[in-house]
Amino acid sequence: MTAPDPKAWVKAIAPYIPGRSTTDDGRKVHKLSSNENPLGTSPDARAAFATAADSLERYPDATATALREAIGAVHELEPERIIYGTGSDEILHLAAGAYAGVGDEIIHVRYGFAVYEIATRRVGATPVVVADRDYATDVDAILAAVTERTTVVFVANPNNPTGTFVDAEKITRLHAGLPPHVLLVLDQAYAEYLEEGEDDGGMALARTASNVLVTRTFSKIHGLAAERIGWGYGAPAIIDALHRIRGPFNVTIAGQAAAVAAIRDTGFVKDTRAHNTRWLRWFEEQIAGLGNAGLRAVPSKGNFSMVLFEGELTAERAYHGLMDAGYIVRWLPGQGLGHGLRITIGTEDETRGVVAALRELAGA
Ligand SMILES: *Cc1c(COP(=O)(O)O)cnc(C)c1O
Repeated sequence: MTAPDPKAWVKAIAPYIPGRSTTDDGRKVHKLSSNENPLGTSPDARAAFATAADSLERYPDATATALREAIGAVHELEPERIIYGTGSDEILHLAAGAYAGVGDEIIHVRYGFAVYEIATRRVGATPVVVADRDYATDVDAILAAVTERTTVVFVANPNNPTGTFVDAEKITRLHAGLPPHVLLVLDQAYAEYLEEGEDDGGMALARTASNVLVTRTFSKIHGLAAERIGWGYGAPAIIDALHRIRGPFNVTIAGQAAAVAAIRDTGFVKDTRAHNTRWLRWFEEQIAGLGNAGLRAVPSKGNFSMVLFEGELTAERAYHGLMDAGYIVRWLPGQGLGHGLRITIGTEDETRGVVAALRELAGA
C-alpha cells in the first residue's frame, strides 16, 4: 500500500449529486432543482442573521438553548428532547452513526431520499432497499425486510424525490410492526407543507415511543437552506446518544439566530404553505392536461412535483429543453428515475413558465 486506503464501505458510496444552479453553458437561470423556498426567507430571520456579524469571534452556543426553546414553544415540544444539526442531513448521519455499524442493516425504500444510503454506508452498515408501491413507501415491504440485524429504518414522509405521502394509519402500522430495538427515523422535511389534519402521527409517536426519531429542517418552508439547520425529536435516550457524536459547535451563531426568528414567523410559514398548495395544485392540473403526450405528475404533498415521461418526449430531452428555456430542474437517473424530473414549485411566474416550456416540448 503506497497511500492511505479509505475503508471499503466509504469507497462504495456514490457521491451525492446536488441540484444545479447554472446551465451546461454556465447561464444562471431559474433554479427549481433543490426544493428551496420561492418566497425567500422571513425578513425577521434576515435581520437576526445580520446581527450575528457583531459576534463573529465567538463560538456559538453549543447547547443551542434559544433555538431549542423556540422550537419547543412553537411545536409544543420538550426542549431537552430536541437535537439540532448542520441541516437535518447531519441528524440522519447521527442516527446511523449512533445505532448502526459494520454488520447492521438499515432499511429504506427504493426511491427514498439519497442521503439514507450515504449515511448507511458511511458507518459500514448494509443498506437494505425495499420496493416501493407506485413510487410511495410500502410499509409492509419494509416490515417484511426486517431481520435480526436491522437497527434503523429511514422513511421520508412526504418522500423526496417522489412527493408521495403515507397516512397516519400506515405509519402507526409500521411502528407497531417493528421490533422495539429498531430505530424508526421519520424524516419530515416537508411536514409543514401538509394541510390541517394530514399529519402522519410521527411527532405523536416521537413523544411517547422509545424508538422513534422525527427530523425536521429549516431549509425548506423556513427558507434557510444556506444556513444548514435541522432538528430532531425523540426519547431522551436517543437524543443523548446523538449528542455524543455530533460536532460540538454544529450550528452557527448566525444560523441559530436566524432559525429562532424564522420559526417564530408563523405568518411567513403560512404564506409559504398557501403559495405552495395553490401552485402545486395548478401545476398538477396542467400536467394532467398533457397526459396525451405521456406526461404524468405523481401526486405530491411536498413543495415539488415528480413528473414522469412515459410518451415520446423523454425526461432527458425535457430536462435539457427546460434548461434551454431557462429552468433547471432535477433529473434523477442516478436514483433509478431516468424517466422522471423533480420540479420545485417556484414563484407564480416560474411555475407558469416551466409549464409553458413543457407544453411546447411535448408539442401539445
Ligand atoms: C431537503 C431534505 C432534507 C434535509 O435538508 P437539510 O437542508 O440538510 O436540513 C432531509 N430530508 C429530505 C427528504 C429532504 O428533502
